Amino acid sequence: MNKGIPLIVSGPSGCGKDTLLRVLFEKYPQVKFSISAVTRPKRGSDTEDGKYRFVTREQFEQMLRDDELLEHNEYVGNYYGTPRQPVSDAVNNGSDIVLEIDVNGAAQIREKLPEAVSVFIMPPSMDSLRGRLTGRGTEASEVVEQRLAQAISEIGRAGEYDYIVINDDLQTAADEIYSILTAEKAKYKNNKNFINEVLNNA
Ligand code: ADP
Ligand code: 5GP
Repeated sequence: MNKGIPLIVSGPSGCGKDTLLRVLFEKYPQVKFSISAVTRPKRGSDTEDGKYRFVTREQFEQMLRDDELLEHNEYVGNYYGTPRQPVSDAVNNGSDIVLEIDVNGAAQIREKLPEAVSVFIMPPSMDSLRGRLTGRGTEASEVVEQRLAQAISEIGRAGEYDYIVINDDLQTAADEIYSILTAEKAKYKNNKNFINEVLNNA
């Protein structure tokens, strides 16, 4: 069996990552998602069984001491981190798994998992990013400004990514992400196990 692909997805806050990934998982339910541990307060739309496991700062620091996290980052005053085990389980079971993480976390993953593939999601324009962030209505205006400032520096690091997907039309963008996975899975290096299995049964 071929291994699954760890797919890093980053993009500035408000560019539509959550919404886009929801469309992706609806259309392609075989793709798995890495649930992050976070210390930020819950938003109205966040649920316990959603994209995050909400923990206290003390719990997060214990996870760090126990080396349970593949990467972590502090973002606008809160910790965010990727639990190691679910990612390695998915990859070893042949499942592709999306890691929705920020640019600093992505850099750490590239060091630890060189086989990871990365996609940077761009908003169609800075105006639409501001509109989406304020339209979501989940953050105070001061936090929106912090997130916009962070967005500009994050977009400056888009060149660290393998692929860029523009989130204009949601269905098109979701299909583009899946096409990236399809193309990556067709690479020779991702088919060595399969080829060996075929040859061993010849
Ligand atoms: P992120 O996860 O990147 O912070 P969200 O998924 O929360 O962003 O999206 C921010 C806002 O933008 C939400 O109100 C969402 O409905 C809206 N949005 C997301 N994608 C699109 C799109 N392709 N076109 C128009 N609005 C969008
Ligand atoms: P939000 O608070 O809007 O849900 O997320 C803020 C930022 O944290 C986003 O850029 C998101 O991609 C990033 N993020 C979410 N989970 C993780 C994680 O596990 N690790 C890292 N490094 N960043 C994360």
